Amino acid sequence: ELPKVEGHVCFENVSFSYDGKRAAVADVSFTVKPGETVALVGATGSGKSTTLGLLHRAFDPQSGRILVDGHDIRDVTLSSLRRNIGVVFQEPMLFAREIDENLRVGRPDASDEDLARAIDRAQAREFIERMPEGLDTVVGERGRSLSGGERQRVSIARALLKDPPILILDEATSALDAGTETKLQQALQEVMAGRTTLVIAHRLATIRNADRIMVFEQGRIVEAGGFDEL
Ligand code: ATP
Ligand code: MG
Repeated sequence: ELPKVEGHVCFENVSFSYDGKRAAVADVSFTVKPGETVALVGATGSGKSTTLGLLHRAFDPQSGRILVDGHDIRDVTLSSLRRNIGVVFQEPMLFAREIDENLRVGRPDASDEDLARAIDRAQAREFIERMPEGLDTVVGERGRSLSGGERQRVSIARALLKDPPILILDEATSALDAGTETKLQQALQEVMAGRTTLVIAHRLATIRNADRIMVFEQGRIVEAGGFDEL
């Protein structure tokens, strides 16, 4: 069991290959301090998603180690690791169930008050209330009845409710209208505040607000530093 986590993340010479031939992540090392936000940028196929997948053990590296608060993540239970890591993806796993249930996946026991607060902070109230049965609306398989920006806000509300010390975020690339964009940025600021955040960033605002930027190229970090340095 992983004890209460502060949110220290450390990659030590981590390499991973999907096919045993070409490295998707090659000798990657970096440290993130509790509460820091790090933006991962780089061309398509450069290894950003694979790096984040390694952190929540979607797969394990062939060499190197990943530490959370000094614990090798292979030495702790998967459930205790994942309890401490929130995941916000553009295409969240949505079940063909009520939106209410979809929001509570990380914390089934959450109170209605906590749920309402998470919905507000994620800027999700307006579109949920517009749905035919509000929170009781059954979303279609994979949330087809929601727009990309709405799905991401469901994902943010879910993470806010779970309240983990570490957050993994894959920012949406879809073009959004100005109003939705503003709401999404506000929701992202809410969910990132006070947590260690690793974000695959596509938007300038997110990159600019990050404490540090890591530039990936062919599985390697080729540059790292603050926005003004790069
Ligand atoms: P994008 O910006 O397009 O999301 P990325 O930086 O997230 O790209 P990754 O998805 O980490 O890149 O991919 C890194 C490399 O691993 C690429 O060469 C990709 O083709 C390969 N790859 C990714 N996922 C798989 C998989 N499930 N099976 C085999 N190869 C994969
Ligand atoms: Mg990716």
